[in-house]
Amino acid sequence: MIERTLIEEFSKIVGSGNILTSEESLKAYSYDGTTTWMHQPDVVLFPKSAEEIAMVVRIANTEKIPVTPRGGGSCLSGGPVPIQGGIVLCTTRMDNILEVDRTAMVAVVEPGVVLMNLNNRLAKEGFFFPPDPQSFLSATIGGVIAENAGGPACVKYGVTKQYVRGIDVVLPTGELITLGGKALCCGAGYDLLSLFVSSEGTLGVITKAIVKINWLPADRKTILAVYDDVAVAGENVYRVLENGVIPGKIELIDNWVINRFEDMMQVGLPRDADAVLIFEVDGPPEAVEVETKTIVEVATKHGAREVRAAKDENEAGRYWAGRRAGFAAVFGAAATVMAEDVTVPRGQIPALINKCRELSKKYDVEIVMLGHAGDGNLHPSILTDISNKEHYGRAASAMDEIFDVAVALGGVISGEHGIGLEKAKAFSKTIDPEVFELMKKVKTFMDPNNIMNPGKIWPQL
Ligand SMILES: Cc1cc2nc3c(=O)[nH]c(=O)nc-3n(C[C@H](O)[C@H](O)[C@H](O)COP(=O)(O)OP(=O)(O)OC[C@H]3O[C@@H](n4cnc5c(N)ncnc54)[C@H](O)[C@@H]3O)c2cc1C
Repeated sequence: MIERTLIEEFSKIVGSGNILTSEESLKAYSYDGTTTWMHQPDVVLFPKSAEEIAMVVRIANTEKIPVTPRGGGSCLSGGPVPIQGGIVLCTTRMDNILEVDRTAMVAVVEPGVVLMNLNNRLAKEGFFFPPDPQSFLSATIGGVIAENAGGPACVKYGVTKQYVRGIDVVLPTGELITLGGKALCCGAGYDLLSLFVSSEGTLGVITKAIVKINWLPADRKTILAVYDDVAVAGENVYRVLENGVIPGKIELIDNWVINRFEDMMQVGLPRDADAVLIFEVDGPPEAVEVETKTIVEVATKHGAREVRAAKDENEAGRYWAGRRAGFAAVFGAAATVMAEDVTVPRGQIPALINKCRELSKKYDVEIVMLGHAGDGNLHPSILTDISNKEHYGRAASAMDEIFDVAVALGGVISGEHGIGLEKAKAFSKTIDPEVFELMKKVKTFMDPNNIMNPGKIWPQL
């Protein structure tokens, strides 16, 4: 419990209209994009400047009060859940796009800017910010950087870490520092900026970001390839790439998810297909035409039963709207969904798919797939119910084996959703013990009182 006098002090810092303490509002900030983990904070603060954040963090550090940074709260690994109570520091009222610099090709933004708002503004000037988590309606730049978010477009354009040029951060001890800048090469010394990308709010609060932006492509086209075997669909991902085309997006949807989509919103996907791949190619119209032709040829040659380019924006829009509804389709289907994030080198996608099928039978659990196949990230998700101990136990065992398989195939346990609350044990198995210890030392050095998002990545601290 935070003392009343401190709450009053926080209220003076952020202003009485920017603090929540009522039971119902604390509840609203007790979970993330899932409802798997819940814990109420003692207070929610909505700072409006880096200086206010620094003042709050300095007090929290002195008083050893946990601080959980929060953006849109759309995380899928428990990141913004204030698992030890204390302060939720929500950046959604720091949502100004400060500058779009056309010559440096960067945008300067506050941490609470929602991705969709950024892209709407950039589109007016012919630009876009490529990393596109499918939560772009609510995900903020701060959260996207803290999770190193990816998305469909990352197969061609790369993930968030490739787009962060500069940040301002309030450290756990309250100092405000600036890292990087607008210049393409902000070079010498240790790359401390990168330390904060995917730090999951455990090393400080990002208060401003300079992000690289790209010109919007002149043209784009969507291609749907239909398969009778999901493993063949997985193989087609790298067949297309090895034939010289880097599509803007390659997403895989398995039979279970296809049927959920069709029940929900009649996307027009074939219900009897074992899987489909949805490709998007983008660029100058001539390149789009050539790449579309190549994808159709390669997929047909390598086992697709049907390949069709969407005839117009309407048809393409339907497929992508369906893809975006994927989260709702999967999460609405079971009391608990273990939505996982294992990612393997593309050549190993069929092996991962086959192993998931095997584990589904072995543990008698539904494992569904809908993911950024172009990145080797299939999001195998297990439908279960946390209140049914026996079923949940089988699901957890299946998931442990999926983690082991992904690592054995040269992959990682978390491609884009972070470690959060529950993947620490699996995480420790995937990196050298020396590296694990080094990372832990960085955390304890920078945050000696362990106030910054305690319980995430390092539950043992
Ligand atoms: C429907 C749906 C689809 C999704 N699709 C994708 C996808 O395709 N790709 C993908 O990568 N993810 C996806 N996600 C996960 C999630 O949306 C992303 O991780 C997103 O980047 C989180 O942004 P946020 O603003 O909601 O952050 P939050 O959920 O609020 O926080 C996420 C983490 O960042 C930290 N944090 C937030 N703001 C700051 C800050 N200013 N400074 C320091 N730390 C901070 C928090 O402490 C927390 O640990 C999806 C989620 C949903 C619900």
